[in-house]
Amino acid sequence: MLWPHAKSVLKAIVSPLLDATGVYDRRIEEVSVREDRWTILMYHRVVLDDRADPFRLGMCVRRDRFEAQIRYLKSRFNLIGVGEAVRRLTQGRPLPSRAVSVTFDDGYLDNLEVALPVLESHQVPWTLFVPTGGLATGEPLWWDRVIHAFACTSRSWIDAQAIGLPRLRRRLSLAPWYRRRSVEQVLEALWSLPMAEIESAVLRLERALAPRVRLMPLAHRLRPADVRELHRRGVEIGAHTVKHPNLCLTDRDQLRDEMLDSRRELEALCGSPVEGFAYPGGRMNQAVKEAAHEAGFSYALATISAVNHLPCDAYELCRIGMPDAELPDFKRALSATMVRGDGTLHSIA
Ligand SMILES: [Zn+2]
Repeated sequence: MLWPHAKSVLKAIVSPLLDATGVYDRRIEEVSVREDRWTILMYHRVVLDDRADPFRLGMCVRRDRFEAQIRYLKSRFNLIGVGEAVRRLTQGRPLPSRAVSVTFDDGYLDNLEVALPVLESHQVPWTLFVPTGGLATGEPLWWDRVIHAFACTSRSWIDAQAIGLPRLRRRLSLAPWYRRRSVEQVLEALWSLPMAEIESAVLRLERALAPRVRLMPLAHRLRPADVRELHRRGVEIGAHTVKHPNLCLTDRDQLRDEMLDSRRELEALCGSPVEGFAYPGGRMNQAVKEAAHEAGFSYALATISAVNHLPCDAYELCRIGMPDAELPDFKRALSATMVRGDGTLHSIA
């Protein structure tokens, strides 16, 4: 296939050559130096090797690449916590020029074990958004169960209609060259379902694929004591619902419960107010925004891949997903998104 090949050539050859000319740095500087700009970045996992993300779905950044990205951000920008930035804006105080905030979603154990030492060594403030459902029991997140089932099955195809995804082609191939496409299709189809249907569809999918656990461990989540420890070490903790549903498909009572229950559990765990919220998968509409305001959050983050132009809507803050990329290609992707706000960096969760 030509396109993936062209992309790998771009990453390996063209990006370093262009980076050496300083073009990416100049583009980033032009956008970020303006005082009415605020860039919020989004990570999920920082991992020690590539096996944690078998389908390259954009959830993981390798540790060495992450450290290079953080070092670059620290050298170029003024890093500020999201909560602190919102407080300043609410009080009519300006943000520093080149204001950038770092966020993580979903509460993986590697945030504590791998990302925290890097962020602490560079004194980077950051915010972590944690779904509370299954936090105490370590129950895996629903999309990780899907990824695990696809990665660890010996089946050659799956019947999408039998697992409750009638909009997909009935027979999805699990051939090595097609499996990633099938995972993406299933995840996208699951996002279009209410939470109760996601749960039953994931169960049916696991039964159909019979994954062998030994082939790849499920991604570990933070435990309650870990969340408390991160808070104690200065990390801002934000809410991310209980079950991580598509909030656009959630009725009014469930919306309120997802927001308030997760907020109260995190406040009890950390012993301090939780001010921020991140919409699961970035999925939101006007009713969801209003619910976040009514639930008492000071701000809420979406995943619209763009720089925030101040003054901006505190309940629809844009965030740019960070790629698992070497520094030149990281700068190419960041500069392209900052300049165009084109949504090319997208995340599934
Ligand atoms: Zn999420």
